[in-house]
Amino acid sequence: MPRTSGLFRTERLSAGACQTDRTISMRSVSRIDEAREWRARLSGSVGFVPTMGFLHEGHLSLVRRARKENEAVAASIFVNPTQFGPSEDFARYPRDPERDTRLLSEAGCDLLFAPEVEQMYPEGHETFVEMGATAAPLEGARRPGHFRGVATVVLKLFNVIRPTRAYFGRKDAQQLAVIRRMIRDLHHPAVIVACPTVREADGLAMSSRNTYLSPEERRAATVLHRALSAARDRWTNGERDAAELRRVMRETLDSEPLARIDYVSVADPDTMRETDVAASGALISLAVKIGDTHLIDNERME
Ligand code: AMP
Repeated sequence: MPRTSGLFRTERLSAGACQTDRTISMRSVSRIDEAREWRARLSGSVGFVPTMGFLHEGHLSLVRRARKENEAVAASIFVNPTQFGPSEDFARYPRDPERDTRLLSEAGCDLLFAPEVEQMYPEGHETFVEMGATAAPLEGARRPGHFRGVATVVLKLFNVIRPTRAYFGRKDAQQLAVIRRMIRDLHHPAVIVACPTVREADGLAMSSRNTYLSPEERRAATVLHRALSAARDRWTNGERDAAELRRVMRETLDSEPLARIDYVSVADPDTMRETDVAASGALISLAVKIGDTHLIDNERME
């Protein structure tokens, strides 16, 4: 697949290995009309990675995958207020735009779209994507309105970038299911590409929110992966009773005094409906509060 079409990609390659020039070659815009103008010049495939910034290897793995599979790559950084509840961490969500810009450029991104809230939600904005059953349980129950905000902003970003393919992490498994449902239901032409969860050496799934954890909480946070692994081991040894897998996860999480369980789940990965039998492909997931920080993780049984 050709990888060098489009003005900005060509500039990036001609800049050679020089870090500064590579950074300059990524176009960084904050206005919708500028992003549309960038898109209008491209006739080949466009890969898109929507993010809330404060980037880590998980985000960058999506950008690299998009780079491999498309002629041009766009990423967005937008901390979307409509997906945060009133008591959630919108104001204190970590931000580091300069570092993010450098990392995106180094990962091969051609366009960074980083709009202000007023660009995405101008005065008078009143239209939202209403999600159904896929968005109702688990994160949807814990965070009312969250997926309405996610679906709305993703569709708005898709309408600006018009991606051929859009890349999402499996770490946010219900978000992936909700986006896939929306794309099907609204006949959107983008192809949704699901990418593996990138983890720290001790198994903790990378997350911008890990930065909230104190050293003691960070140690405790490994319990999420340990609980999933305990259930996975049972599944590998033939256990298919979903109630037993939930019990194993609870038992492991209960062994960590700093962890408070929000939910443990064994569900269908497309509908997010709880299941009695953990057949091949079942999604086991959990959400835990450690200190003031909500952490989620999941694994597919396959
Ligand atoms: P966020 O900035 O948290 O909204 O995440 C932006 C995208 O990165 C979403 O598609 C996430 O699922 C994905 N992502 C976040 N953390 C990871 C991770 N550890 N591994 C893979 N993808 C991730």
